[in-house]
Amino acid sequence: HSFGEARRLIHALAFAAHKHRDQRRKDKDASPYINHPIALAHILISEGGVSDAVVLCAAILHDTIEDTKTTYAELKSNFGTEIADVVMEVTDDKSLEKAERKKLQIAHAAKASPRAKLVKLADKIANLRDLASTPPHDWSIERRRDYFDWAKQVIDGVRGTNPQLEAAFDKAYAARG
Ligand code: NDP
Ligand code: ZN
Repeated sequence: HSFGEARRLIHALAFAAHKHRDQRRKDKDASPYINHPIALAHILISEGGVSDAVVLCAAILHDTIEDTKTTYAELKSNFGTEIADVVMEVTDDKSLEKAERKKLQIAHAAKASPRAKLVKLADKIANLRDLASTPPHDWSIERRRDYFDWAKQVIDGVRGTNPQLEAAFDKAYAARG
């Protein structure tokens, strides 16, 4: 049983590492993209006490549909419906305008499943920490603050999901300046 879960987690890591292999984060050193999904899983298990393998796998895979050519069907056949559905819940529709997408993310997060809310919390914690320590080289202070404020709107809609992660988010938000 626990071997099966470990195997599924390692499979998700290998799958995400392959899918994101040519991508980099936006920080000045262009860090390997896979560091970000790994950071989410680390935040969930170490700071949120989350042991649900569906949530941990979904966190590792959370940007595959949005940012690579990965499809829902591919996630479903590799990892099952539960994990594929959580990833789908946290995936933005990239055919929409950015401003529209940002508005929809606030609305969708509030109505998401508890598992998807955990992934959202970890994603926003990781991104605010990155913005504080290794921000995109070309972002103004205003743009960074706008992002902090939007992230807070998303997270305010998911409160009541995991107190430790919500506290970690608030601590990260305090670096807004
Ligand atoms: P982006 O959506 O383009 O970038 C933010 C995303 O980049 C994060 O959500 C994260 O997404 C990813 N990311 C990659 N590397 C990093 C990193 N080092 N630190 C943090 N995040 C990283 O930017 P915005 O959210 O700003 O969206 C664009 C919006 O900004 C538009 O609505 C536009 O109107 C506005 N804008 C504002 C400007 C201003 O000066 N105020 C200037 C230009 C645009 P993930 O987790 O998915 O990887
Ligand atoms: Zn992300």
